[in-house]
Amino acid sequence: MPNIPPTAWAIGALAVLYIAVRIWATRAEDRRRAAHEERMQKLMAEREAAQLEDESAAEPPDSAIGPGSLAAVTSDKDPKPERAASPQVPQVKVRCRACKTLNDESATTCAECGAEL
Ligand SMILES: [Zn+2]
Repeated sequence: MPNIPPTAWAIGALAVLYIAVRIWATRAEDRRRAAHEERMQKLMAEREAAQLEDESAAEPPDSAIGPGSLAAVTSDKDPKPERAASPQVPQVKVRCRACKTLNDESATTCAECGAEL
């Protein structure tokens, strides 16, 4: 039986305690992360459902974004893309031969100089 000094026992006990705390902390972190993921997924599902219900729904009011709220957590994520505006009808313009002013296609005379287009 080797003679083990008390300091070795103390160090060993501390090491075991340290490992136990680390395992406990890791598990607690895993649980916290899993809960967070669950909340995020739920929030995303709610958001998608809301968007399907009313795609023009406005963003939640700022008062709903408080410290620690899910909205605050996700506010820096990719924002909801703006609804595409109605397709732009290209404006056809006619350039006046006399003064180079652009006139509407339907115009028969130049709005600037009155010349026939
Ligand atoms: Zn003109």
